[in-house]
Amino acid sequence: MRTNLTENNLNNKTLAILKPDCTRKNLIGKVISHFQNAGFKIRGMKMIKLTEDSAKGFYEVHKERPFFNDLIIYMTSGPCVPIVLEKENAVEEFRKLIGATDPAKAEEGTIRKLYADNIQENIVHGSDSNDNALKEIAHFFSRKELLEINGWQ
Ligand code: ADP
Ligand code: MG
Repeated sequence: MRTNLTENNLNNKTLAILKPDCTRKNLIGKVISHFQNAGFKIRGMKMIKLTEDSAKGFYEVHKERPFFNDLIIYMTSGPCVPIVLEKENAVEEFRKLIGATDPAKAEEGTIRKLYADNIQENIVHGSDSNDNALKEIAHFFSRKELLEINGWQ
């Protein structure tokens, strides 16, 4: 699904995905509580099982990496929950909340440190730039599915 997003509020939205290990371990509610307790507003949310094509498209930037094939198998192994989050400085604030990619290197109290098993199965995705946040939101959501976003309705 593709959406032409405008450049409104570029620096206050990010895309989270609760990954298949999160849904498998029944951690959806706990992890979303961390988002809300940290002041993020939920502007869109759905539960889906990624197709292989969708997962490959989402992670295209990593297609030459040695872990790419395993990443696609993992991301298509069960339900995911993409979530559009809004907060001032959302991308950076959310990366701080989730912690480093490898939970062994993540700061105490971060979501990956608390719940992730290893560098692959690390519970949650977070966008790494404002531009990528808009592209990633458009990968999963149409405009109609996004609520209360300035200038979009
Ligand atoms: P992040 O999710 O922190 O932005 P990357 O964009 O570098 O991390 O990688 C995307 C995802 O690919 C990671 O979240 C993880 O699931 C997986 N991954 C990254 N590096 C490795 C690795 N060295 N071995 C296995 N899986 C990895
Ligand atoms: Mg990344």
